[in-house]
Amino acid sequence: MEYVEQAMLRAEKSNCKSDTIFFQALREVLVSIEPLMAARPEYLHHNIIDRIMVPNRAIHFKIEWLDDNNVVHVNNGYRIQFNNALGPYKGGVRFHPSVNPDILKFLAFEQIFKNAITGLHIGGAKGGSDFDPKGKSDKEIMKFCQAFMGAFYNSIGADIDILGGDIGVGAREVGYLFGQYKQLTNSYDSIITSKPLSLGGSLGRTEATGYGLIYFTQTLLEDQGETLKGKICTISGSGNVAIHAIEKLYEMGAIPVTCSDSRGAIHDSNGVDLALLKKIKLERRASLEYYALEKKNAIYVKRENYTEGNSFVWDVPCFAAFPCATQNELGEECAQLLINNDVKIIAEGANMPTTPQAIELFSENNILFAPAKAANAGGVAVSVLEMSQNSSLNYLSFEKVDEKLQGIMTDIYINLKKTCDKHNLEMDLISAANILGFQRVADAMIMQGV
Ligand code: NAP
Repeated sequence: MEYVEQAMLRAEKSNCKSDTIFFQALREVLVSIEPLMAARPEYLHHNIIDRIMVPNRAIHFKIEWLDDNNVVHVNNGYRIQFNNALGPYKGGVRFHPSVNPDILKFLAFEQIFKNAITGLHIGGAKGGSDFDPKGKSDKEIMKFCQAFMGAFYNSIGADIDILGGDIGVGAREVGYLFGQYKQLTNSYDSIITSKPLSLGGSLGRTEATGYGLIYFTQTLLEDQGETLKGKICTISGSGNVAIHAIEKLYEMGAIPVTCSDSRGAIHDSNGVDLALLKKIKLERRASLEYYALEKKNAIYVKRENYTEGNSFVWDVPCFAAFPCATQNELGEECAQLLINNDVKIIAEGANMPTTPQAIELFSENNILFAPAKAANAGGVAVSVLEMSQNSSLNYLSFEKVDEKLQGIMTDIYINLKKTCDKHNLEMDLISAANILGFQRVADAMIMQGV
């Protein structure tokens, strides 16, 4: 695969050497589109790889804000408008101290192909800030969101670039970001999704990524003559995606027994108490440590007590594992533990949570693997339903949105299977997702000329 190494060399030349996570995402896509590159030689002629791996636009801005004691703080803000061949840029906003251009470039790059796989007309983008929302008052969060939006509102628009939520950006932050855009532009344009219902949000958007993940997994399993019913499942994370995945797992008759946050992890062999989890994470915004204080049978392990390379959650025997926290959280050692415990399927709720080494181990051991680009695409798909409801002023019931979400996740699976068949990929859904997404974007780019 000469084109891969040549493209990687060019990418390393034109990016920072430290952009390791973007390079990881880029390499995965380049390697897995090999059958497509062989079948479509015109992509080389149109220099599609070079054109697709450079963001259309990367915005870096300064955010100044005042805390409750009138102390001035400065944070970095970013928006990577990576590719808009299929439609306006669309992608979430992340507030977390680890945010940097490398992470956002990787997330925006992944978003291009995820959005393309849904079959909807949206491009790929991602944004965020190294601001840490933890421990901030409501007023400080509001002031930060206002300053963030104030610094770059003129680069977005309902037909240009539409924001959304991600780690650290939930309904509260989305509301403040939207309010500030409205204030600055005197418009009620749909420039952000995952809005609270009273601001034009869609019923079912909050649940969509987690529910979609489980719909996709169940469709895949049924195709293999299996089901989630009665099966032990392990989940990492305890945010939006993890909580709604757990909720849907219960509805499917499965038994979700773990969750985690940035400080530790819970194993509740009776099944995670969803009401308690929601109270701790969504209402109190507190640590999972409180879960074990209230549920004496549950085991809580602090992050500093995890064994080397292991996140504890993946040491719990399970039928299905759902990494729903963050990128590269499931490495080689964790993969080996899961395999030793006879795991049958890994389904990614977070973006790129599994390292390449872990993916290789799963593949060698024939473990079914549902990649994030397909499995967590339910969130962005319902965001597009939110955008269309905003423009038509015709709002859908929860049941209607959920029905559409199920249809979209099933269609994604069917299209991946067709791509597998076409390129003799067996059940390599990672390659199928990359091929399907890449092809849709590349064809749209060629049609639009240079
Ligand atoms: P969220 O609501 O902010 O939750 C993130 C959760 O992960 C929190 O519980 C957080 O812990 C935990 N976490 C963060 N770093 C961790 C680490 N190193 N180890 C263990 N836990 C960690 O975010 P989210 O929306 O659920 O997003 C989770 C993942 O899904 C991200 O990769 C995101 O890009 C992806 N995703 C989200 C959506 C969506 O619609 N929200 C759509 C597609 C993909 P604390 O509570 O301690 O902060």
